[in-house]
Amino acid sequence: MCSRESVQNGPDAVGDEHIQKAGIVSVGNELLNGRTVDTNAAYIAGKLRAISLPVVSVHTVCDEVDAIERALALAASEADVVVVTGGLGPTDDDLTRQAFAGFLGGGLVLREELLEGIRQFFDRRGMEMPGRNSIQACIPQGAQVLDNERGTAPGIQARKGGKWLFALPGVPDEMKHMLDTKVLPQLQPLTAGQTLVVRRLKCFGAGESRIAEMMGDAMRRGRNPLVNCTVHTGVITLEIVATAERPEDAMRMADAQEQSLRAVLGDLVYGTDDQTLAEVVGEQLARSGRTLAVAESCTGGLLAKLITDIPGSSRYFTHGWVTYSNEAKRHDLDVPVKTMEEFGAVSEHVAEAMARGARRKAGTDYALSITGIAGPGGGTEQKPVGLVYIAVDSADGTNTSRHVFSFDRSAVRLRAAQTALNILRRRLDLTGPAPM
Ligand code: AMP
Ligand code: MG
Repeated sequence: MCSRESVQNGPDAVGDEHIQKAGIVSVGNELLNGRTVDTNAAYIAGKLRAISLPVVSVHTVCDEVDAIERALALAASEADVVVVTGGLGPTDDDLTRQAFAGFLGGGLVLREELLEGIRQFFDRRGMEMPGRNSIQACIPQGAQVLDNERGTAPGIQARKGGKWLFALPGVPDEMKHMLDTKVLPQLQPLTAGQTLVVRRLKCFGAGESRIAEMMGDAMRRGRNPLVNCTVHTGVITLEIVATAERPEDAMRMADAQEQSLRAVLGDLVYGTDDQTLAEVVGEQLARSGRTLAVAESCTGGLLAKLITDIPGSSRYFTHGWVTYSNEAKRHDLDVPVKTMEEFGAVSEHVAEAMARGARRKAGTDYALSITGIAGPGGGTEQKPVGLVYIAVDSADGTNTSRHVFSFDRSAVRLRAAQTALNILRRRLDLTGPAPM
């Protein structure tokens, strides 16, 4: 299987070496057939970025020695550090150590002390070590061992052509522990010559292409700071990544980029980092000492849910009505039957009456209302699926807006609730603190 050897571990001397880029190789058929989501790569990339080591590629490959070896070579050609995850188990489809040995140009050697460690792992559990686990005591020639404190598969570490190569287990808990305790402490001192400052601006109220247009060439590739754009349920996240040798320079570059984006995007920017619309609106309400009630029809309580997802929302949120039927709108919110008969339940007039009724009944400073057609049925030519009216009422008066949202029922409902929060956010932006 493999020859026998006994070697002392210990990282190579570091000197004044600097590393700037990393690559990831994720190994496993399960990652390619859709059965397992590659959460390891996401975790590793996040942790490496946090020490200012950006990941420039993730290669996902099947459980074949040649494929793993090719991916190792490719990743090492693009980066200073390669982290492999998966394929270190004891079964015939676990082939990372063989590929690692091939890439280093040698064979595998059996380490007696590792074999003893694996035996003891089973002993402690009152079990006999299965014969096939002895493969886990085999390490590529010239490589070092990374102890696995959570399982039987030791990790592997080696250097080749100035590159840093690591192989970690695939089991997420084992991989995380080994990365955090054995890999990052070695790499962190080597990234000292490079600082990454990451900022995120959260936007709502315009589509991706309109925002890109407003931003001009800010998203051009190769720029520093780099600006990346992602979109999720209508929220656009602009990520600014500034890279510089000194932290203060990276910070200054990120600040300047943030200011210039805010200047062009105005109040489309609602927050930073992981903030949600409900969080921002909640902060505005709490800060200004105002209160809020909501009246919902097609969103069925989703707006109230988003608001009350925020801890401490009882400081400003008092009531939420789900008035799904006309009778509920009349009974709970005093929406006139005549208005519903004349204009329909999905209409500007009904939205307005719902918001006014909710504010009056709850005695709050603000009330939001939503009425619409979430679909898939119930649409007409005049009132298509996705049509939603949203009203906001306060002492300053009532504003009602008409929207047509796309896609399926849940997308329409979520977009309606988010848009209602965004409308309130914009109104609160214009309002000062509550009178004492
Ligand atoms: P392995 O080390 O290849 O035997 O992987 C052990 C188990 O860890 C697999 O059966 C998967 O359930 C899980 N796993 C492996 N690689 C990943 C990955 N990249 N992301 C998430 N889970 C993984
Ligand atoms: Mg596997």
